[in-house]
Amino acid sequence: MPEGPEIRLAADAVADALVGRETRDIYFAFKRLRKYRRELLGQPISAVETRGKAILTCFDNDWVIYSHNQLYGRWYITPAGKRVNTGRQLRLALHNDEYSAWLYSASEIDVLQRQNLQQHAFLARIGPDLLSERPGVECIIERLRSPEFRNRQLAGLLLDQGFVAGLGNYLRAEILTLAKLHPSTKPRDCSARELRRLARQIIDLTERSYRTRGIINPPGLVKRLKAEGKTRREQYRFNTYGREGQACHYCGSAIAQNNAGGRKMYFCPGCQPPPKT
Ligand SMILES: [Zn+2]
Repeated sequence: MPEGPEIRLAADAVADALVGRETRDIYFAFKRLRKYRRELLGQPISAVETRGKAILTCFDNDWVIYSHNQLYGRWYITPAGKRVNTGRQLRLALHNDEYSAWLYSASEIDVLQRQNLQQHAFLARIGPDLLSERPGVECIIERLRSPEFRNRQLAGLLLDQGFVAGLGNYLRAEILTLAKLHPSTKPRDCSARELRRLARQIIDLTERSYRTRGIINPPGLVKRLKAEGKTRREQYRFNTYGREGQACHYCGSAIAQNNAGGRKMYFCPGCQPPPKT
C-alpha cells in the first residue's frame, strides 16, 4: 500500500504535466461529471494537492477534481494525446498543449468547488496532509493532546488518517522507534518533551521518505551500512520495519514484531520500553 510520500510523488508527476497550463480537453468516464466540462475547459491548473490517498487537481477558477485511487487507480502522463497501452478502464483524462494526464481504474472521482471541499465525506474526516498541507510541530502536538486522540494507543493512532494523513505501516514503525515510544503508549502518558519529539519525527521522517524515495534511516547511518555492504531491502532502508529478529542499528536489541490492529507492528524493545502506567 502506498503511503503519503508515494502518493505525493504521484501527485508531483501530475503537477509537472498540468500546473500552469490551460486545459484543452477533458474526458470524464462518469456521465454525472460531464456537465462540469464547461467550467473547466480553457482553465489553467494551479496546483495538484494530496489529502491522504486522495488527489485534488485544482483549477485557477477554484474548481477542484477530487480523485481517490483506492487500490487499483493509476495515473499515466504522456505527450499530448498519446494514448496509454493498458487493459485498465479510463476514468478521467486531462489534456493541455504539451501533455495528457490519464487516470485509470479509480472509482471515486468528483468535481467540487474549493469552498465545498470540507463537505465531501472523505475530506471531512481526514486530518491535515503531511506533505501538502504541512502541519507544523505545534499543530501535531495540539492534535496529540486533544480529547479525540489523547487516549488512543500510538500504534493505532498513527495509522488513523483522521489524525494526520500520510502515515502507513513503515512510517509508523520508524517514527515510534526514533521517538523512543512503545506502540502501546498513549499521548496522555507522554511528557511534553516526548510529545514534541514524536511530532518532530512524524514530520521529519515523512519528509525524508519523500525526498529519498523511501529511505528512512538517516544519511550518515545509510552511508555506513552501505560501506559494510548491506543491501537496501534487507538493511539500510529501515531500522525497524520488516527487520524482526535483526539487530537495531541504534542499540543492538533484536527487533520485535506483533500484530496491532491486524497489521504487523515492528518495534525495538531496547529503544522503546513499555509505558510505565
Ligand atoms: Zn533499539
